[in-house]
Amino acid sequence: MDLGLSGKVVLITGGAKGIGAAITRAAVREGAVPVIVDRDASACDKIISELKLARAHDHHVIVELQSPENCADAVERAASAFGRVDALINNAGVNDTVGLERGSPEKFVASLQMNLLHYYNMAHYALPHLKKSRGCIVNIASKTAVTGQGNTSGYVASKGAILALTREWAAELLSFDIRVNAVVPAEVLTPLYEQWLSNFPNPGAKRKALEAKIPLEQRMTTPDEVAAMVLFLISGQASHITGQHLYVDGGYVHLDRALT
Ligand code: NAP
Repeated sequence: MDLGLSGKVVLITGGAKGIGAAITRAAVREGAVPVIVDRDASACDKIISELKLARAHDHHVIVELQSPENCADAVERAASAFGRVDALINNAGVNDTVGLERGSPEKFVASLQMNLLHYYNMAHYALPHLKKSRGCIVNIASKTAVTGQGNTSGYVASKGAILALTREWAAELLSFDIRVNAVVPAEVLTPLYEQWLSNFPNPGAKRKALEAKIPLEQRMTTPDEVAAMVLFLISGQASHITGQHLYVDGGYVHLDRALT
């Protein structure tokens, strides 16, 4: 299937590691032009040199997304370097375990800033460019938005809001032919996930126990499997899909628990 993404400029927040890096690599394989927006400078350097892109410095913007000014700057740098923006992938986030009991009002707001506000800010600043290109937005959410997890109110509130905003933006942007969808992963082995696992006394045993509960093949989803859905959604092959929440999770959220 030809995704027709050659030359399309794709902004990927958190595109230097984990799921975002898989999206960046998949975009390059499809001939698209990725612009990584990520705060991890060394991870940016690593993936940029791996991809061997010409004009390497134009393909990444090293910023902290929590500042709205940085979001505006990242969008403008991509647009002025490549003349257009065709897709925004809002992906950066951190499961920061700000719970109801263990958190605080200040930590809760900080968690929203870490996980939610930059999704809005990036979409807001990218919109004039997406209107011109009739582009699209994909928001990476999390199964925790619909299942809960415990001890992570800020993250879950953000991911729930991201699912709601996906529908809201799909509605608001219909008249511009801008499609907006969300991809919902559950258990994907990434640096963030490994860090979360490392909080358990026996991370290997915890991982095995989790994998046993994943209906399809009792294994974690790979970052590439999430990236494949994202690339499909931003392609013309998904031209009549908008406002959807697509679960890439091996049946983890919806299949009968009796199966595992
Ligand atoms: P990851 O391995 O930590 O990669 C995310 C990248 O984004 C990192 O380079 C990170 O830098 C960067 N980043 C995070 N917040 C940022 C900010 N405020 N400004 C700039 N850069 C920022 O994460 P991942 O596991 O791939 O997760 C990607 C997305 O998928 C997240 O939204 C996450 O909630 C979602 N998700 C993941 C899973 C899973 O199982 N992995 C499941 C459900 C949903 P730092 O390393 O410095 O933070």
